[in-house]
Amino acid sequence: MKYDRILIRYGEMSTKGKNRNRFVVRLKQNIAKKLASFSNIKIEYMRDRMYILLNGEPHEKVMEQLKTVFGIQSFSLAIKCENEIQQIREAALTAVQQNEYEGKTFKVSAKRVDKQFPVGSSELNYEIGSHILRNTQNLTVNVHQPDIHVRVEVRKDGTYVTCHDVPGAGGLPVGTSGKAMLMLSGGIDSPVAGYLAMKRGLEIEAVHFFSPPFTSERAKQKVIDLVKKLTKFGGKIKLHIVPFTDIQQTIHRQVPDGYSLISSRRMMLKITDLLRKKHNGLAIVTGESLGQVASQTLESMFVINDMTTTPVLRPLVSMDKTEIIELARKIDTHDISILPYEDCCTIFTPSSPKTRPKREKVAYYESFIDLEPLIETAVASTETWVIDEAFTSADEFENLF
Ligand code: ATP
Ligand code: MG
Repeated sequence: MKYDRILIRYGEMSTKGKNRNRFVVRLKQNIAKKLASFSNIKIEYMRDRMYILLNGEPHEKVMEQLKTVFGIQSFSLAIKCENEIQQIREAALTAVQQNEYEGKTFKVSAKRVDKQFPVGSSELNYEIGSHILRNTQNLTVNVHQPDIHVRVEVRKDGTYVTCHDVPGAGGLPVGTSGKAMLMLSGGIDSPVAGYLAMKRGLEIEAVHFFSPPFTSERAKQKVIDLVKKLTKFGGKIKLHIVPFTDIQQTIHRQVPDGYSLISSRRMMLKITDLLRKKHNGLAIVTGESLGQVASQTLESMFVINDMTTTPVLRPLVSMDKTEIIELARKIDTHDISILPYEDCCTIFTPSSPKTRPKREKVAYYESFIDLEPLIETAVASTETWVIDEAFTSADEFENLF
């Protein structure tokens, strides 16, 4: 008898009523994609849990991969046996013995889900607990804070024994909340916003504005590397790279200095919204947080947001910079984000951007420029890449346009 499967618990998803099946099926697909390189595993799913049958695949590696799949509340290595008291006691003992148990404490929690089973929960606890004590040394019982928590569940199809719960990534399975476009700069904030959006079940496509020759190939590679980090949580992600030089230079020439940043941001939002429509998204995600910089006062957001009625989601809106940095470190995007390569805004940033812009004023300044053809060209010349964890350089992959 040995650990032969991983038991997955859903958490929040299990409260989704009629929609639950859709959530569970999507979670299964996401897990299957994540574990594609383990060719022997099999996934069984039911309404309240999932089992990954290892069939000889290494459980440590599989469990490592599961930690980044949204929609999993927790998971445990498990042993399955038949609903027969002798077998259950052996399975529980084996489960404990595969831990470093000497000098540790344990507790047994048995649950009889299958009411046909003749032995009740407290009797099971006693039977299993005493069997473990008889067959081990230097292991004691602690019912309040055990080192090893032996959970035994007698279900219709068999009995499952686990010893440790590993916390999952939480959230909802990516793809169950629909699709959004993530406005991704090379900075610290927007990758974190993308991570949080995926955690709420959104599938994301990234949109990046770049302004060659003012921004370099290295700045573009930086964005590709950031997307690669996000694919760890979301599987393959499309990255749309929008050439923004003409628009930015035109704005820079024609719109007074204090308003040029706001105007560029408006055009970015407008173009992102066009791309959203083209790719059937329902929302836009940004890394804006309130009050952080000039373009992030409520007045600025109001004027920028005027471009669209599409929901603009700002997962970081109430977070402090230190909290954002902490998350960026956790998802491993921080060190890429702080590389010094300029993004298109740092170059054109005016010395004193308006912190309280007026919507009428910016519309008035923009009325002197014919931005529409420039926007059309930018959308038409947008390059799209499909990025996955193995993506190395832009040249190796097919250009989708
Ligand atoms: P970040 O750390 O994400 O760069 P920030 O603190 O620098 O954010 P801003 O420069 O005001 O803040 O940008 C606000 C948001 O606008 C970004 O989080 C991002 O969503 C979007 N954005 C800014 N520049 C670009 C760009 N070049 N391409 C795509 N989106 C952008
Ligand atoms: Mg930035």
